[in-house]
Amino acid sequence: MTALPDASFAPPPGYRLRLPGPTEVPEAVRAALGRPMINHRGPEFRALLAATEELVRPVLGTRNPVVFLAGSGTAAMEATLANILAPGERVLVASHGQFGERFAEIGRCLGAEVEVLDFTWGEAPDPAVIGAKLREGDYGALLVTHNESSTGVVADLEALGRLTRDTRTLLVTDSVSGLGGIEMRQDEWGVDIVVSASQKALMCPPGLGLVSLSERARARVQRNEGMPRFFFDFRKALAAAEKHETPFTPNVSHLAALHTALRLIETETLPKVLARHHRLAEALRAGGAAMGLAEFTKAPRRSSTVVVFEVPAGLEGGDIVRLMYQRHATVIAGARNRLQGRVIRIGVMGGHDEGTVLTDLVQLESVLRELGHAVSPGAGVSAAAAFLAG
Ligand SMILES: *Cc1c(COP(=O)(O)O)cnc(C)c1O
Repeated sequence: MTALPDASFAPPPGYRLRLPGPTEVPEAVRAALGRPMINHRGPEFRALLAATEELVRPVLGTRNPVVFLAGSGTAAMEATLANILAPGERVLVASHGQFGERFAEIGRCLGAEVEVLDFTWGEAPDPAVIGAKLREGDYGALLVTHNESSTGVVADLEALGRLTRDTRTLLVTDSVSGLGGIEMRQDEWGVDIVVSASQKALMCPPGLGLVSLSERARARVQRNEGMPRFFFDFRKALAAAEKHETPFTPNVSHLAALHTALRLIETETLPKVLARHHRLAEALRAGGAAMGLAEFTKAPRRSSTVVVFEVPAGLEGGDIVRLMYQRHATVIAGARNRLQGRVIRIGVMGGHDEGTVLTDLVQLESVLRELGHAVSPGAGVSAAAAFLAG
């Protein structure tokens, strides 16, 4: 083998990936990606897929079959809508941020009749308002973002499940940035479809989507008058899943990675994983508050996987993001939507510990000070440390 070309795209030393996805991939998961390729129709693959399904079900809180797709979260969202809607069918989107808008856009693009209930960004979608709207029309589905990564708000799926449970409306949620870091009880809450993806709290590389479907969602998928679809046809995927296969060549290595990530969650235990996410997100919030970084949302249902801070008056979000990278090789997110410049977002997803958020706060402090924002030395770190000790 000849030497590899210069890897000039390699990240700088000390690189820290602190986005709300993709997130850092643990060593064991990266090692799983490098396993020798196997026959995707052979016994080894079937065993891998079966084991992965078994491990992901408790994280979803479901006994449903799970469809795995080669594609990012958006692919899984689009595939889902193509499988449950018919052209011209009415669908209600309870939107509370950028990803709710995306769900609506996908629905329109596919030719559904999309109605949007637009909740103020930073507020949780109100079940009373949604309930009233649902009673007005015959909606094929209610679409809602579980964990809105643009605002840091979590929707009350349990309350929404009570609204749709005894109706024809399927409750479909995008938990791309929630699953694995925020509680999901699909069956208990009556969520018909959960859509997720590999690169957020499931701590895998991007490129693997997953969709779990309730019995009535599966019945909807079997309708004949639905949307045209081929690769994304869940009728084929569900039939193949019964044999622990996929209809087309799957991303085998990503499934091996997901299997390992799920084993890590199982070993730590899911309740402890969820509690750790919550605790670290709270510590980051406490530290941010002590440095004058107010949380964007005032809603009580706050995310444990992404913390969204308002940029202090007089500063520009893009400058904070840029300096975090230039000075510390740490990648955090701003916003690529109506909040551009006004918020910064930091992920708390995957295998992090206290050191991660304390480091975030040390680095943020130095960047804020460089930008002329007054912070008393160590304010953020000591507030977070006090929270963590409490
Ligand atoms: C990241 C994300 C997605 C999917 O994005 P992809 O880039 O397509 O994987 C969808 N919804 C939410 C809430 C997300 O955070």
